[in-house]
Amino acid sequence: MTKEVKKCVVIHNGSHSTIAGFSNMELPQCIIPSTYLQRDDEMIFGTFEMLDEAEKNIPGTQVYTIIDSHGLPYNWTALEAQWRYIYEKQLKVSPKDLPLVISVPASHAEFDMQIMERYFELAFVQLGVPVLQIVVEPLAVALSMGKSSALVVDIGARGCTVTPIVDGTVIKTGVMRSKFGGNFLDFHIAQLPHIEPSETASTCEMWYNSNTWIQQFKSTMLQISDKNLVELERYYQEQLQLQQQQQQQMNGFQPYMMNPLTQKRNFLYKGQKTITMELRDCYKIAEYLFQPNLASETFSQTEGLSELMSKSIRKAGATVSTMGTQSGGTGASLVYHRTHIAANGNTKNTTQSPGPGSEKTTVAAASAGGLTSEQVYSLLLTNVIITGCTSLIGGTEQRIINELSIRFPQYKLTTYANQIQFDRKVQPWISMSAMASLPNWELGRWYVPHDWRPTT
Ligand code: ATP
Repeated sequence: MTKEVKKCVVIHNGSHSTIAGFSNMELPQCIIPSTYLQRDDEMIFGTFEMLDEAEKNIPGTQVYTIIDSHGLPYNWTALEAQWRYIYEKQLKVSPKDLPLVISVPASHAEFDMQIMERYFELAFVQLGVPVLQIVVEPLAVALSMGKSSALVVDIGARGCTVTPIVDGTVIKTGVMRSKFGGNFLDFHIAQLPHIEPSETASTCEMWYNSNTWIQQFKSTMLQISDKNLVELERYYQEQLQLQQQQQQQMNGFQPYMMNPLTQKRNFLYKGQKTITMELRDCYKIAEYLFQPNLASETFSQTEGLSELMSKSIRKAGATVSTMGTQSGGTGASLVYHRTHIAANGNTKNTTQSPGPGSEKTTVAAASAGGLTSEQVYSLLLTNVIITGCTSLIGGTEQRIINELSIRFPQYKLTTYANQIQFDRKVQPWISMSAMASLPNWELGRWYVPHDWRPTT
């Protein structure tokens, strides 16, 4: 089959951004918000169109979402309108002309089949798409990097999701999700004492702030400390005390003493005034991803990213070692999707030296008939993939390495995170595109209208 024939439309609907383009292109055609603006009866899509309109903040204009807190569409009318906008205004092709590839998040929910049916109806009936492929987002990310086993840590807008994949299979019981992601940080940044409080902000104004200065604030001011912030504070306090004692002993000698957490950072807020914050306050906001209990006592530390990763690995180990990874039989309900696809990766960077050979041998063992939980831990920990735009906050990767090495000290650890900012932003789309471009159509599951029977 020629490259020409395999051109597909690829659409990734994240809860924050929707990325769309053609599978035979290296980069997507558009990145637009996964929300829309409603003014009277008109729906407005597209980044610049929405920003222009939101800036005016005309009373009555509202912003609505399309994707729910699980990362699945709930507003199907808006999704259809958004896809039509993408086809007409961005891709400039008819939906009837090309196969379509879309993504769904890994989930352990039972309503998956209903969502699939809604997707089939939208694609086949409403838009007339000829062929549809639905890929599981973290699975596509892992496989497109040439990894059939990985721990995919996605730090996005609606929260963090940790997905263990063993031998091309998502271990459903190990999929862990928290609600603490980019949106949660946005909320806390908007509450900072330096910001004028706006109790009556419309959805339009909130969306505009989130996509303009708050986003800049997150990328320039926030930083993730390499260890637990409470411990870091204690560590620097101890250092200061030590230095003070030394000063007393060395009479007359004045060492320069400063707590690094008191360093100042400046941010130009809305081009009008400078906000100055200490480094400890910048660390504190980002720390909510790992310790949400610092934001409010009503949140538990067990919902932080460190606990999520740890639970995910242990649950995956327990599931695989007791059930095996074979789909079918009793293990079938615990796994999401099984495939033997191993596409060649388009990873741009790795942070530590990859463990040679270990993956190959253990995967072979899995296929041969089951892994011990230690083998699963080792497989996952040598393939930790960090994705999602909130992971672009400086220090995220190092913190994840530190947290995992505290919890699994006896295992080798390797993380993979795309170091190029734009590539990390479009990573799900690039992965889906790679899956769609596999040399053999048989490798992925493609659906045609004939496969879909509406439930009566
Ligand atoms: P989800 O994974 O929740 O379904 P998504 O895939 O659409 O949503 P991402 O695009 O991965 O989400 O992440 C969007 C979040 O990342 C937003 O909250 C956005 O403000 C934030 N973000 C984008 N760029 C940066 C950056 N450079 N630094 C910090 N945060 C960023």
